[in-house]
Amino acid sequence: MKLFFASHNENKIREISAMLPANMMLKSLKDLSLTEEIVESGLTLEENALLKARFLHAHIHHASFADDSGLEVEVLNGRPGVYSARYAGPEKNDAANSRKLLRELEGKNNRSAVFKTVIAFVDGQQEFLFSGEVRGSIAHTPRGTKGFGYDPIFVPEGWSESFAEVEKEIKNSISHRAQAFDKFIRFLKEKSANRAAL
Ligand code: IMP
Repeated sequence: MKLFFASHNENKIREISAMLPANMMLKSLKDLSLTEEIVESGLTLEENALLKARFLHAHIHHASFADDSGLEVEVLNGRPGVYSARYAGPEKNDAANSRKLLRELEGKNNRSAVFKTVIAFVDGQQEFLFSGEVRGSIAHTPRGTKGFGYDPIFVPEGWSESFAEVEKEIKNSISHRAQAFDKFIRFLKEKSANRAAL
């Protein structure tokens, strides 16, 4: 079974590929030679995930999915949230985003944060949303070289290492994306079992 994923983000593609059951194969925008940048103009993760999945569905007329993620920091009233990718500017620079966040948290004791992912699946008849989140805290300095984005400064609850310090198998078993993706895969399996039973 092919899963069409509306993303150019190699890191997300790698993570999601590693979570896929053996009978499913990921096809991203690159595989489909769709180079167009999808403007993420939504005001929520749900809206952005939906607009990316709808974009791909409109191009290939095949069921498609997309994910949108955001880091919500408690003491910043949920910022950067839906603006996580462009927090330090339109060039979407991961290191600059983390630096800006660390600057804003200087001197703050409350470093609680939650990483959220919303997956949207659009099949031409219906639209479905699956969400996942992981609670944690923002480290005082970036740590680790694995992962991407805010991983070096996000420490998941129950761990002392950042997401960029733990093995990818660990991140992929507890992350916001893993939890949303798990729900999505269960939904796809049920859907295909129901179809087979007809
Ligand atoms: P988007 O889902 O591509 O819009 O991602 C929003 C922002 O969060 C980007 O800056 C990503 O680099 C970052 N991001 C998304 N997922 C993760 C993750 O799993 N770990 C760390 N940063 C992430």
